[in-house]
Amino acid sequence: MNVDVKASPDHIAMAEPVDIRRIGIVGAGQMGNGIAHVCALAGLTVTIVDIKAEALTKAMATMARNMDRQVNRTVISSDDRDAALARINTSTEYAALGEADLVLEAATEKEEVKRIVYQTMMPHLKASCMVASNTSSISITRLGASTDRPEKFIGMHFMNPVPVMKLVEVIRGIATDEPTFLSVQALARKLGKITAVSEDFPAFIVNRILVPMINEAVYALYEGVGSVSAIDTSMRLGANHPMGPLELADFIGLDTCLSIMQVLYDGLSDSKYRPCPLLVKYVEAGWLGRKTGRGFYDYSQTPPRPTR
Ligand code: NAD
Repeated sequence: MNVDVKASPDHIAMAEPVDIRRIGIVGAGQMGNGIAHVCALAGLTVTIVDIKAEALTKAMATMARNMDRQVNRTVISSDDRDAALARINTSTEYAALGEADLVLEAATEKEEVKRIVYQTMMPHLKASCMVASNTSSISITRLGASTDRPEKFIGMHFMNPVPVMKLVEVIRGIATDEPTFLSVQALARKLGKITAVSEDFPAFIVNRILVPMINEAVYALYEGVGSVSAIDTSMRLGANHPMGPLELADFIGLDTCLSIMQVLYDGLSDSKYRPCPLLVKYVEAGWLGRKTGRGFYDYSQTPPRPTR
């Protein structure tokens, strides 16, 4: 007989979501500031922790600028903006996360970085605190196992830019309990997002499909099938994509794209996921896309100029 424990009515009846009021965010990069932005506007108290003080200063300035834009477009009022910004605190110390009901980790997409974050952070969290990772690709089961609370550990994968994109992928590790699963789903709804549940396989659903397409576009460039603008124009006008794949790669960050391809390649042991050598070279050069001012486009020019 096939017994699905998760689907058992008794099991579901017992599980209750926890109301998340205080959220900690680790990593103040492009995802961390976007997540903090939507959480603060939804009324949560937000604490952002980063190892770099300048990343925190930059994140506060980015959120203020993005909220100003929303005020100008009458999406929010200036009172909403002021109240939201006042709900955000920043720190370079993990001790600042002691009151959090949930910590969402949005640090660099490297497993060793995330492990260091968890090791350093866990002793400061209250026992009931849940931990979610915004990882784009790394196994939630494996990340959860490196913490002291795998049952309270889950994947909560926001899309970039967070204030605009509706989807949150929710990924349970093998040990994730039902209250944690229900709590992050309720949080996503509170933030105005729609969830899709993915099983814990490399890169989940969106990036399993999206990032190999980006990698293929880099191969097309590498093999001389087309120039940067020919490839992006083709996919924008020929497939109706809002952004070309190389433009999108620069937007995501080429280091993040490469890390995701490596996770797919290692995790699925299939040569079709081999990262394009040109993508590797750009990352080695430090040309990571928009965030460093140069990737497949040069952002020091307006409009950005294709680099090939
Ligand atoms: P980013 O490079 O913009 O920011 C990462 C931040 O993490 C930096 O500010 C860095 O200082 C900080 N950091 C590094 N080590 C740390 C530590 N030990 N403690 C605290 N902070 C630390 O990266 P990002 O694009 O914001 O990505 C963050 C996460 O979100 C990754 O897991 C990535 O895969 C995921 N993600 C990215 C995108 C995207 O489009 N860029 C989309 C969805 C999910």
